[in-house]
Amino acid sequence: MRALPSLTLLATALLAGCVSVNTQGDPARAGFGPPPNDSLNATVWYQLSTERDMIYAQTYRAAGRVLEQALADESWDALPRGDRAAATFEGVVHGLPRAIIVDVDETVLDNSAHQARMIRDGTEFSDESWDAWVQQRAAPALAGAVEFLDGAARHGVTVFYVSNREAAQAEATVANLRAAGFPIRSEAQFLGKGTQVPGCEGKASDKGCRRQLVGRTYRVLMQFGDQVGDFVDIASNTREGRRQAMAPYADWVGERWWVLPNPVYGSWEPALFGNDWSQGAAERRAAKEAALEDLRP
Ligand SMILES: [Mg+2]
Repeated sequence: MRALPSLTLLATALLAGCVSVNTQGDPARAGFGPPPNDSLNATVWYQLSTERDMIYAQTYRAAGRVLEQALADESWDALPRGDRAAATFEGVVHGLPRAIIVDVDETVLDNSAHQARMIRDGTEFSDESWDAWVQQRAAPALAGAVEFLDGAARHGVTVFYVSNREAAQAEATVANLRAAGFPIRSEAQFLGKGTQVPGCEGKASDKGCRRQLVGRTYRVLMQFGDQVGDFVDIASNTREGRRQAMAPYADWVGERWWVLPNPVYGSWEPALFGNDWSQGAAERRAAKEAALEDLRP
């Protein structure tokens, strides 16, 4: 009879998750504690590492050093050739006023707080939670971005914020950008998803038509983004398709095109599971693990 109370106590403690069980050090394997989240490490790096700030600062400072050259060279243009050919007669850019195109999320604004909420809540991305975050207008600037873009604006360069935030989120996004210190005089400098571009048709999330819209009246000195699609449209979102889209512009990286790191999310991820988000999380994870190359002999 003496054993009974201790067994009851042990069972109660186990159910409450108070007693660790030897499961190779991972309480989640025993059904206790929070389930693992695939984006935890990437989000921790993105939000909390000094290295991230160093990469952003390094990128924007380096771009600042190239800017003088881009301003002075009347033939310098950062639009992909297809977009430029469609934007101006014979692709001529001489005499046009100058612009820079930046993506918004994880290029100039840091949304890792939204990612942190999803991890803590155990949820996946939803339009509702994203919109609530956007409406909060609280995303901080990423290192070096304000200084660089402000400097460019003082040289008479117009900054266009070409983003896949919805066009309907323009007001909140512009308010957030202004509060963070970015140069944006007019809401017309924000070109969100759903922006209508006369004479150009494409998928709403592709940025080609919006790049062309800017290119019709501006010479584009530089583009900044954290996704291949921020620079050039991708015909087929596979690893090979993504490489092919970038390949003609390899020499532009670090001169006309400036890439920022995003290990948390992006089109690089669904490229590994056939762009099929209807699959369960376990299937998507299995496809990503299968795609890894370990180079074992
Ligand atoms: Mg982005």
